[in-house]
Amino acid sequence: MTDLVVPGDIIGASEEYLPGDGTYEERGKILATITGKVETDKKDRTVRVLPVMETPPMLKTGDIVVGRVVDLKNAVVLVEIARIKGHENREIANADQGAIHISNVKDAYVAKLETEFGQQDIIKAKVIDEKSLRLSTVEKDLGVIKAFCSRDRTPLVRKQNKLECPSCERIETRKISEDYGKGVI
Ligand SMILES: [Zn+2]
Repeated sequence: MTDLVVPGDIIGASEEYLPGDGTYEERGKILATITGKVETDKKDRTVRVLPVMETPPMLKTGDIVVGRVVDLKNAVVLVEIARIKGHENREIANADQGAIHISNVKDAYVAKLETEFGQQDIIKAKVIDEKSLRLSTVEKDLGVIKAFCSRDRTPLVRKQNKLECPSCERIETRKISEDYGKGVI
């Protein structure tokens, strides 16, 4: 028996098996308490229900994601999406590249993407179109959460609305998330 069962399904008789994990016994019958696959153990005569692994989460419009800047084009930043908020430990089913159009960077005119993002920066963004994986960093908590000096790759430290390299003192600008440097999404 390998079919999926749901709570309440009868999966065996108690004269035949002992109730194992994910089951309970009621009036001579063994029933499932969880959704999963039934496994019977002939040796110790138990029947149990193994929980089914959740399928990986799909990106949806409105999701907050964390990713890495992989390319800066004229009007678009390409982002390799790594994680979805709320599913931090999970692989993403449709993991792919998202794109931030220059008009979705912040609530102000952006002339050049290079003043807002750097190569390999870690950013937090919102999915605004799940089909094309369009992302936005307009809101205050969105934008760059970790950036690296373009000269020596040292992680930059926030100084008000600019970022400074503790190694070479170079000052750089970004569309900084209010969560910059906190290591949280
Ligand atoms: Zn530097």
